Amino acid sequence: MNKPQVDTICWDIDNTMWNWVAYAAEVYPAMCNVLSQASGQTRERVTDCMRKYYGRAETMESSWLVQDLEAQGLFREVDVDQSKLIKDVQRAFHASRTKSLRLYDQIPEVLEAIYRAEISSVIVTDAPACHAASRIKHLGLNQDHIQKVFAIKDSLPDEVPENHRDMFDGGNYGLKPHMHHLETGKPHDNLHELLGKTPEDMRTSVAFVGDSISKDMTHNCISIHAGWGRPLPEHLEKVSKFAPHHAPATIYRRQSFLTLIHASEPRDVLKFLNIE
Ligand SMILES: [Mg+2]
Repeated sequence: MNKPQVDTICWDIDNTMWNWVAYAAEVYPAMCNVLSQASGQTRERVTDCMRKYYGRAETMESSWLVQDLEAQGLFREVDVDQSKLIKDVQRAFHASRTKSLRLYDQIPEVLEAIYRAEISSVIVTDAPACHAASRIKHLGLNQDHIQKVFAIKDSLPDEVPENHRDMFDGGNYGLKPHMHHLETGKPHDNLHELLGKTPEDMRTSVAFVGDSISKDMTHNCISIHAGWGRPLPEHLEKVSKFAPHHAPATIYRRQSFLTLIHASEPRDVLKFLNIE
């Protein structure tokens, strides 16, 4: 096969660079336990309230959980110190994340090899910008190997103080690569514009690596399915208890894939690019 003319790799991150579902299967129950103890309510009741909140927020990564649960009346029967409870929940979250969140094998080496081959790596994620940045930093990814991050603009309630709001909206979260805030999630009809390319260029010069067929593999470029990111059913089951019930996704929105390549391990991306 001739050497592909790819000059840009778009990377999904959750379940492509790291094990988001396995991590979520630990952190949400850990936060639920703390909230159950503080409220005196059963874990089932707290789980239902958490799911309601994430449904309204349209993401499981919204940061105002305790405030919302209070508004839902979860703590009506107890005297709760909100700021102490937020810290307790954050502590449980961080401890659980440290234990469970892992980069997949080979990811750092593959990113380095792509960088040395002078191919750009760009992250395109549906995670809110603050959480994407937090996970990139927490996992110690070499940020010199990533040229840009596209992530969802953080949604903020009205009462966030102005200086805090500036950090979310305008700041770069302490990342080296430029953070570009997106209004909507994947797939992106305008990915070529985000990357500064023409639709024709996209077909030969861009590859998208991701685990989601419906979200990552339907851009107008070469698609590389990250088979290594498939979550375990028991982890999915745990996470689904907290996840909002969505209308069925529009899967296979574009009926034919331009090019779909299956990769069973991250090193397969290098093989496709003919990088040693
Ligand atoms: Mg993913």
